[in-house]
Amino acid sequence: MGKPTGFLEFPRKTVPYRDPVDRLDDFLEIYSAPSDDHLRSQGARCMDCGVPFCQSATGCPIDNLIPEWNDLVYRGRWRDAIDRLHKTNNFPEFTGRVCPAPCEGSCVAGVNDDPITIKNLEQAIVDRAFAEGWVKASPPARRTGKRVAIIGSGPAGLAAADQLNKVGHAVTVFERADRVGGLLMYGIPNMKLDKGVVRRRLDLLRDEGIEFRTRSDVGVNVDPDGIVAEHDAVLLATGATQPRDLAVPGRELDGIRFAMEFLTGNTRRLLDGGPDRARLDGDGIPSARDRDVIVIGGGDTGTDCLATSLRQGCRSVVNFELLSKPPSLRSDDNPWPQWPRILRVDYGHAEVTERFGDDPRVYRLLTKAFLDDGNGRVAGVRTIEVEWAREGGRMIPRELPGTEREWKADLVLLALGFLGPERYVADRLQLECDERSNYRAAPGRHATNVPRVFAAGDCRRGQSLVVWAIQEGRSAARAIDEFLMGCSALPAPASA
Ligand SMILES: Cc1cc2nc3c(=O)[nH]c(=O)nc-3n(C[C@H](O)[C@H](O)[C@H](O)COP(=O)(O)OP(=O)(O)OC[C@H]3O[C@@H](n4cnc5c(N)ncnc54)[C@H](O)[C@@H]3O)c2cc1C
Ligand code: SF4
Repeated sequence: MGKPTGFLEFPRKTVPYRDPVDRLDDFLEIYSAPSDDHLRSQGARCMDCGVPFCQSATGCPIDNLIPEWNDLVYRGRWRDAIDRLHKTNNFPEFTGRVCPAPCEGSCVAGVNDDPITIKNLEQAIVDRAFAEGWVKASPPARRTGKRVAIIGSGPAGLAAADQLNKVGHAVTVFERADRVGGLLMYGIPNMKLDKGVVRRRLDLLRDEGIEFRTRSDVGVNVDPDGIVAEHDAVLLATGATQPRDLAVPGRELDGIRFAMEFLTGNTRRLLDGGPDRARLDGDGIPSARDRDVIVIGGGDTGTDCLATSLRQGCRSVVNFELLSKPPSLRSDDNPWPQWPRILRVDYGHAEVTERFGDDPRVYRLLTKAFLDDGNGRVAGVRTIEVEWAREGGRMIPRELPGTEREWKADLVLLALGFLGPERYVADRLQLECDERSNYRAAPGRHATNVPRVFAAGDCRRGQSLVVWAIQEGRSAARAIDEFLMGCSALPAPASA
């Protein structure tokens, strides 16, 4: 264990983000570089619990060996730390940056004090390992002669590709976009996950023998039946990319876009032309520059829209939430070690407060209509306040008469979540879907109703997190390896 008295001596101290005043001028990552002393004292706080809830079912979905690497950080044994980290996590540089850290919500130190800064330590370990040159391509010594196709190159597809390639199968990843990475590339903005960090890992995977085919839209310009026929197994990792719409009057007006169109447009312009280009309209996608922006819906997507709008130079930005404001502390029905459902101030909220003086979130607001400027463009949004009431065992929103309000907006971004995978691959392959419209495949087994076709990630479990996508990819890789070889030495993540 770290330092036996560490949790008594050192208070929790997270690594601060860069000052919002500076970071709003660029699209660079928000993180700052911590000192060794800082990291060691935070590692020293870990109590090496007999039952480490941080890596249990409510904690880390990929069973990261958290107490072990906390201790190794405290002792300055960074190289051992990255070896332990890579045992359970193919891409700690992604989760160390973007994971909401369910492990910290479950950390035993959080019962009556503050949890260990697990996520900061994870990022520090992997960033150091890359900086020291310890992370190198390691192609498999032998090939099995089996061919696996993976459709979709998000974290689920990439984790599965990495695992299957390690045991010697020939892996080809088909991606419909012009760049590989799924939401790691187009979705999560550069400020949270630099695209150079994504490319660095992709280069390693390529060097280890994985083939990537971009602009290959399976079901559109690539025949899915052909892929099934030419491979021994196929993994669908197509994500939950069907956005939820808002069918209210005025929806057809110009200037109302899905959040993902806006975020993808920004990243593509940034990568193709740099920050100045990202700030301008382009390829049919509006920028927020000099516009009054309303983001409807919260979560990571909503927050990323706020932060991107600021960097593009919006005139104002507001965020509508249908739900009530969460409590600042856990409520009685949300005890440890559950994920704490509390008010969080994410980077985008802090940045809007810094720029405009107020937190952008307005709670309990229902959108009734979009307003026309007379020329077919959106000019505003009409809302009404709601209260949440229990009816027949379910919480439902009830409109409060007399609370209608009009808000000025010339760009509205819909960040209302996702409704599962798009239908065209399922239709072509005659895949069964579940009641939530995801591909039907049992957790841990991943087999669909179509022989030799498996499914993993958001397309199977619904919209989720990067860490769950990695868990799904690893779990599916083991199921496919077992199917191909009769047995598998690949690890099976305990959580499902
Ligand atoms: C804006 C945004 C921000 C987020 N921020 C966070 C965060 O901070 N932390 C976090 O943990 N999670 C976050 N998430 C969620 C996380 O990104 C997803 O849960 C995760 O990426 C899912 O991984 P996946 O591999 O299943 O699918 P995806 O990452 O969605 O990848 C699926 C890929 O499949 C491709 N594809 C689809 N159909 C086809 C086809 N027919 N042929 C070829 N390719 C196809 C798509 O183009 C895409 O590249 C965020 C999500 C969004 C939308
Ligand atoms: S639960 Fe917290 S204190 Fe206990 S081992 Fe895990 S990180 Fe350390």
